[in-house]
Amino acid sequence: MNVYDAERMTDLLAPIGYEAVEAPDDADLVILNTCHIREKAAEKVYSDLGRLRQLKAARPEDGASMVLAVAGCVAQAEGEEILRRAPYVDMVFGPQAYHRLPEMVARVHREQGAVLDTEFPASSKFDYLPKPEAQGRFSAFLTVQEGCDKFCTFCVVPYTRGAETSRPVADVKADASNLAAGGVREITLLGQNVNAYHGRAGRFGTQTLGKLIAGLADIEGLDRIRYTTSYPAEIDSDLINAHRDIPQLMPYLHLPVQSGSDRILHAMNRRHGAGDYKRLVERLRRARPDLALSSDFIVGFPGESDADFQATLDLVDEVGFVGAYSFKYSPRPGTPAAALLGQVPEDVKTERLHVLQAKLNAGQSAFNKGTIGTKMSVLLEGPGRHPGQMIGRSPYMQAVHVQASEEYLGKIVELEIEAAHPNSLSGRLLEGTPDHQGLNATMEATA
Ligand code: SAH
Repeated sequence: MNVYDAERMTDLLAPIGYEAVEAPDDADLVILNTCHIREKAAEKVYSDLGRLRQLKAARPEDGASMVLAVAGCVAQAEGEEILRRAPYVDMVFGPQAYHRLPEMVARVHREQGAVLDTEFPASSKFDYLPKPEAQGRFSAFLTVQEGCDKFCTFCVVPYTRGAETSRPVADVKADASNLAAGGVREITLLGQNVNAYHGRAGRFGTQTLGKLIAGLADIEGLDRIRYTTSYPAEIDSDLINAHRDIPQLMPYLHLPVQSGSDRILHAMNRRHGAGDYKRLVERLRRARPDLALSSDFIVGFPGESDADFQATLDLVDEVGFVGAYSFKYSPRPGTPAAALLGQVPEDVKTERLHVLQAKLNAGQSAFNKGTIGTKMSVLLEGPGRHPGQMIGRSPYMQAVHVQASEEYLGKIVELEIEAAHPNSLSGRLLEGTPDHQGLNATMEATA
């Protein structure tokens, strides 16, 4: 979502004369768009600011000045603190304020002193944003939901992104149509808790994510739909049916489980047990037999015993994931888990993460190797590293290289997968590969 937010900020600044540059060295305005989810991410902000301070200090010599801004969730959580620790920062604003960016830039130029904006506004920022444009891309993000009300005891999101809100169905459809008209073939619907989506749908009350996806599937040219990130306890039958009925919905689902231990899941306030998760996966796989899953894991949550950790390893074995993000528990200020007794020592967390990642990596490699010899539909998004090569994405988000001419750019082609490398696959273009036929190939790919 930070990638998407940064794009929106770039769009907002274009009318007042700013354009993106490659490096901060000569920039008139530098925005650090920050993440507060783990301590490491948050601390990085201060080291980056230290470096930018030097660039900024060097500026008056050439007669230009540099406006330095901190945006995103660290700004939201630590606004005042940032201005104290880094008084050379000109603007600090949270994720709910970036539509006011042009106004803030004007204020910084007009006034002395820094601008701080970490309010949660009453009206939606989305009402003030320019429409997202394709800009030559074939795959794009689209925020449909923001915030979270679930209050997992480890997580800062409810405090930094605020309560759950959904964009109205008509607005999402307008943005998606606009992107598709500009050549976008694949859209990833974004939300911190995307399947809590309940967008206003005119006189008919609100619509679920499953119904929204069904509506988006009618848009001409939009051949692939994804969504992320989902909260397991809120996957409803509309969404499961969407996986069954809508071929444009890719057979790949990121479904964070966090732990395989019921005791730990309860302490995390996850509202699902290991059994619930496994039953949900079964229902999803009945609806879409070729569905592949990825997940998020936290090791070393306070009180996690060897037996709890073993339960996580067992769950990985039982479910089978094709990709995952896994993290050491990081105590976040103000969250309930940070104050729990039984914090797990760092070396134990490191060891557990190592063991878990070895298992997850093995699962991913096995999945990638299993695709060798199968047919896959791949959306070709750009040139590869070598001449005559293109790179694209499989339905399962795998990067795939192929020898193909540029006329295939932005097309969904059918490939036979020939090799699996650590981070990508490579394949061969099948004769007479027709665009638009990718959807059937998707179904065959894991058969
Ligand atoms: N909405 C998602 C969470 C997105 S945050 C959900 O339903 O779980 C992305 C991931 O960061 C989380 O899934 C979690 O695995 C990890 N994470 C969040 N807070 C964390 C913390 N305090 N320490 C370590 N990892 C954390």
